Amino acid sequence: MNVNSYNISIVIPIYNENDSLKILLNEINSVFKNRKKPELIFIDDGSSDGSTKTLKKIVLDNTHVKLISFKKNYGKSIALNEGFNLAKGDIVITMDGDLQDDPKEIFSLIDKLNQGYDMVSGWKKNRKDPISKRWPSKIFNFVLRIATGLKIHDFNCGLKAYKKIVVNSITLYGGLHRYIPALAGQKNFSVSEIVVNHRPRK
Ligand code: UDP
Ligand code: MG
Repeated sequence: MNVNSYNISIVIPIYNENDSLKILLNEINSVFKNRKKPELIFIDDGSSDGSTKTLKKIVLDNTHVKLISFKKNYGKSIALNEGFNLAKGDIVITMDGDLQDDPKEIFSLIDKLNQGYDMVSGWKKNRKDPISKRWPSKIFNFVLRIATGLKIHDFNCGLKAYKKIVVNSITLYGGLHRYIPALAGQKNFSVSEIVVNHRPRK
């Protein structure tokens, strides 16, 4: 098999998630157990909690895992952007590295994508975060829904699936990761969403 031929790339930004990394890797591996391995790309966004060492070890032990390492913290948008640049898969998945996103949802997102959408966003309908995060987010999403005309409830869900052309067409920096469905919509890509399981941050 050509090592560069991946159908699915999974891009995961990591800033100080050392306690989650091995659990996350095992969860993803078990979801893909009887399938072709995905290309797994971790972006270490200047972690200082030992994530860097753990990720280097994971890369040595797993040929399907790639690592981009930042010497300092550039933020989630830049991390995702670098991951998008490296991703070889026809389908690109993003998810957070803090175990709040459930890898079991990856194939539900892809099923929806295969119904003919360019991008599918997760909707944390039953969001396991404190009210101080949930209310500002409701207002943010309401305003974006009106401004963009997209029927998306959760623009900023970490768990998303894209056709390769979408990640090749958008550039992320600053806080733009919060607006990705809007950026995609602006470029005439079709955007849909599905409800996804969300877990509390441990
Ligand atoms: N993250 C990152 N750089 C940062 C902040 C966060 O790469 O400067 C990563 C973080 O490790 C996690 C994801 O982005 O994998 C989402 O971060 P967080 O859980 O803090 O965001 P929230 O769930 O509140 O949206
Ligand atoms: Mg989180």
